[in-house]
Amino acid sequence: MPSAPPPRAPAVRPQPELPPEAFRQAVDQADLAISITDPEARILFANESFSRVTGYSADEIVGQNESTLSNQTTPDGIYRALWRELSAQRPWSGRLLNRRKNGDLYLAELTISPVVGARGSTTHFLGMHRDVTELHRLERLVGNQKKLIESVVDAAPMALALLDQNGRAVLDNQEYKKLLTDLRVKEPAHTLLDSLLPGWRQTLAGAPETCAFTGREARVDRPAGRARWLSVSASPIEVHSDCADSYFCKGGQPGLLLVISDITELRDEQERARAAGLQAVLADEERAAEIREGLSAAIFRLEEPMNIMAAAASVLQRRDPASAGVLQRALAASREHLDALRQVIPQSPREPVVHANINEILRDVLEIGTPRLLAAGIVVDWRPAAILPPVAGRPLQLRLLFKALVDNAVEAMNVTGWKRRELRLSSAVERGRVVVAVADTGPGIPPEWRHKAFEPFFTAKNAAGHHIGTGLSRAQQVVADHGGFIGLQESPGGGCMVVVEFGQFRGQTGQGRPGGDPI
Ligand code: FAD
Repeated sequence: MPSAPPPRAPAVRPQPELPPEAFRQAVDQADLAISITDPEARILFANESFSRVTGYSADEIVGQNESTLSNQTTPDGIYRALWRELSAQRPWSGRLLNRRKNGDLYLAELTISPVVGARGSTTHFLGMHRDVTELHRLERLVGNQKKLIESVVDAAPMALALLDQNGRAVLDNQEYKKLLTDLRVKEPAHTLLDSLLPGWRQTLAGAPETCAFTGREARVDRPAGRARWLSVSASPIEVHSDCADSYFCKGGQPGLLLVISDITELRDEQERARAAGLQAVLADEERAAEIREGLSAAIFRLEEPMNIMAAAASVLQRRDPASAGVLQRALAASREHLDALRQVIPQSPREPVVHANINEILRDVLEIGTPRLLAAGIVVDWRPAAILPPVAGRPLQLRLLFKALVDNAVEAMNVTGWKRRELRLSSAVERGRVVVAVADTGPGIPPEWRHKAFEPFFTAKNAAGHHIGTGLSRAQQVVADHGGFIGLQESPGGGCMVVVEFGQFRGQTGQGRPGGDPI
């Protein structure tokens, strides 16, 4: 087989010669002050731009040391560093304060490169510098303005945060930083936007102009602390990127400026007034509920002997019709009285269904119960979810519900000689449901009684040293009306824990209407 011909070496193209004059012209006409010196910094060559910047003609400057340009105010350390680098045959770059021939000062941005000869020693230095006085002025101006803006922003009494299109906080102030530590959430801006503008991330990326809002109020609850009320305004603004690839882009990136003011004091005052009014309303409704329950229980109990009497009357009917007639007439009259009694049972007020904030309701209940809790020496551990989604509900009924649960817990622990007196009230969002737990450190409820506890008129207050409060059947009714779930468990502290859930249900056991429709 004939062998393949050896690969042909690539043809070497002759390099076109660049005449030395072209180099000289290029250096001479460059828009950069260029000088070439001997190893002692004595100038051998200076181009036209050098003369333009320094004011010295080439004739005047050639033969002079570069130090002619020095204003003698550049710190010595800079020169020492400059010469240290040059002596090691390394280039040096930096800024020096120079003086022109006419005495004007200018800031020179200078790069010096050593030219190393064939024998390895430095034969020349190549200096290139430009006047950056204006650049420096602008840098300082921007720096000063930034400082000014930052100090104004920092001194502002409201929290400010600027979010970029990805939701990153790119600018904030002291008040915002305080919010970070106070609220103990990762990014307060996100927590607030999640509650005030759900889906804000997509909106900010797609239609930032629709993110604007003013003075929306958000309540943020903190473990063992007062709730904070914040008024938030959001304004979309265009943020220009500082990346090189954005240099030719006209438009900026969407950003969102949040202004957050603390209105807790104002809201607290309103809350105090509201709580006082609420206390009166709750007391009225509790009285009405007691009458309702008392009358219902009385009617329930009266019906029992009446049923016996009715049975007796029908037995008597054949043997002694006259006596049976008397009995039946008495029964009919009693039934009328019972009906009359039913008519006067006070009806529960029909409240409209609103978006209720369960944390707010729990805070109200704690507020109203504070004197009782203090008197009983009960320590309250309040662990709210920072933000809760609203629950469609009747606020008065819900307040009565949680008040009854707290009252039961207080009653369970407020027993002479009972040492551990802790009430833990917590709220959380679990799998889209709002879950509230009221846990005490009382004697607890034996498992066999937990189901019975929800029966109407059931009470076991004095049984075997254990306690079951009344009102659980009423509480269960309220929870059921809200399409919720209520269950009893042993609390981690050994007492009783009542868990109430609102939202979707999947196969839990307990009292209430699992799977029931919310109101
Ligand atoms: P100098 O007597 O020059 O000494 C300052 C320090 O530098 C001393 O610590 C000294 O020991 C050291 N030093 C000086 N010369 C040498 C050397 N040949 N080898 C090692 N160490 C040395 N200066 C400016 O202010 N403005 C300029 O625009 C500027 N351009 C320059 C361009 C080039 C190409 C070069 C090589 C130097 C340039 N210099 C410039 C530096 C300048 O030569 C002076 O060193 C500087 O101005 C300080 O001058 P001086 O008389 O105050 O002190």
